[in-house]
Amino acid sequence: MKDFSVTITKKTNIADRVFEIQTTKPQDFTFQAGQFVQWYIPGEEERPIFRSYSLSSAPHDTYIEFCIKLLPGGKASTMIEQAAVGDTLNFRGPNGRFTNTQTEHNLSFIATGTGIAPIIGIIRDELEYKKNTHNIHVLFGVRTTADIFWQQKFQELTTQYPNFTYHICLSQDEHEQCKKGRVTTHIESKPHTNYFLCGNRDMVMEVRNTLIEKNIPTTNIHFEIF
Ligand SMILES: Cc1cc2nc3c(=O)[nH]c(=O)nc-3n(C[C@H](O)[C@H](O)[C@H](O)COP(=O)(O)OP(=O)(O)OC[C@H]3O[C@@H](n4cnc5c(N)ncnc54)[C@H](O)[C@@H]3O)c2cc1C
Repeated sequence: MKDFSVTITKKTNIADRVFEIQTTKPQDFTFQAGQFVQWYIPGEEERPIFRSYSLSSAPHDTYIEFCIKLLPGGKASTMIEQAAVGDTLNFRGPNGRFTNTQTEHNLSFIATGTGIAPIIGIIRDELEYKKNTHNIHVLFGVRTTADIFWQQKFQELTTQYPNFTYHICLSQDEHEQCKKGRVTTHIESKPHTNYFLCGNRDMVMEVRNTLIEKNIPTTNIHFEIF
């Protein structure tokens, strides 16, 4: 793991309290799709504070991207809220094993909220760089239509890659183009499929248990808990 300094080049409010942040990419920074880095959060504490953020960009992108939900009163959240284009971010990394190494199976991704961050990176890496032609599906859960983001990205991938499909799930709202209810109520067990889950602990554990009950081998279930 190495330390890096990057400059914020773009900061976009993409949904309620969710920001997409793009930065410069140092030449010697390499990573695998789905990994995360640890941002250094400056403060008055004696010991340095670090917070983990998944890379939502793909390794072949010329920039680094993050997707972050601001939590009220959170240390990193406060820093991100105040951060502006031109500011420097310091992080160490990359880290993590939420990556896809196999090439034989279909891929099924299940995420809630900003848990979609590492997943979009993996999907773009599979489709755009590795030219994966297996079926790739995303189930993306949010509370209401105001919490939806990146739908256009998903739509463009659907148009460009016939093996890619996605569904958005609304747990507290209704929309004709979305599934209703929590992601856990829409889990399908498919053969020859590797599952990737990302989001809060409760969701990830519930989906994992549901998949195990549906006889999906644990070796085919990969997860990252935020
Ligand atoms: C591997 C990994 C990858 C991750 N990737 C992402 C990602 O891509 N995107 C993302 O959004 N998150 C991600 N996270 C979560 C992220 O690391 C942070 O935990 C999250 O952003 C909150 O950090 P924070 O410093 O803002 O909040 P913290 O300071 O850690 O606060 C935690 C909680 O306490 C509350 N709190 C803090 N101070 C107060 C106070 N004074 N009064 C009341 N309540 C308070 C906050 O509201 C918050 O709910 C990831 C986590 C892991 C482990």
